[in-house]
Amino acid sequence: MLQDLTFGRLENEFAVKAPASDDILICVRDNHVLIRRHEDDSLELPTVGQVNTALWEHWDEEPYRYIFKMQGKNYFLWMGEAGDCPDFAYEDMRSLRQMQSKEVCFAVMTARHLSVWYRSNRFCGRCGTPTVHDHKERMLLCPHCGNMIFPKISPAVIVAVTDGDRLLLSKYAGRAYARYALIAGYTEIGETLEQTVQREVMEEVGLKVKNIRYYKSQPWGVDGNVLMGFYCDLDGDDTIRLDETELALAQWHHRHALPAKDDGISLTREMIRVFEEGREPR
Ligand SMILES: [Zn+2]
Repeated sequence: MLQDLTFGRLENEFAVKAPASDDILICVRDNHVLIRRHEDDSLELPTVGQVNTALWEHWDEEPYRYIFKMQGKNYFLWMGEAGDCPDFAYEDMRSLRQMQSKEVCFAVMTARHLSVWYRSNRFCGRCGTPTVHDHKERMLLCPHCGNMIFPKISPAVIVAVTDGDRLLLSKYAGRAYARYALIAGYTEIGETLEQTVQREVMEEVGLKVKNIRYYKSQPWGVDGNVLMGFYCDLDGDDTIRLDETELALAQWHHRHALPAKDDGISLTREMIRVFEEGREPR
């Protein structure tokens, strides 16, 4: 999956730093990021020195925000509305799945997660006062009422329902070219992850499950999630009762006839391959 990186650990300890001209600068505008696509489809992010930040105006906080370090490179987030740069263009982040540019894709998704959080919390949700950046940890603080706002990460589960050599695959409703997927959903307040697994499977396909086993997690910053993958066994009746508002179809597929291949990016695809190879946790 995307986070199986060959370029070393993400150094995400909080720090306040000033940018150097050769540090990477991530400029986000809505769902788009400033990026350069080379002829071989590989991706490149601009450096601080390359981006024209003359558009910086009327902003009463620092224009750059240090976000993390990867492979010895500092990454900064541009906090303004837009930056621009010759040879670079704004591209939709959701379409960035270049295997040969995993580092760039991962950086962009993670930066987007932080960018959305910063932009959504410029004012205190309790009293409406403009928030300030804390200097010791990644936190926004209300100077009036003391409200402390930490980055929001939404937990969600991905569930591989198995029945012997069969795996349940589904497709989401309302998408023209939906890919095969596993059952997935957000954790509700007050429930354990195991209860999320049971509830989501019951809601979406009407099946009871047992023997729930944790597999692996994946941060999915473009949606602000941390996904947690589980395998579980069918408990009893295998009759699927589809929630048609959520899913277009759900079907059992044999271990050796699975229609979805690993894309090297998503946890879902990896879990399907692991089942295909008979290596799922038992
Ligand atoms: Zn406040």
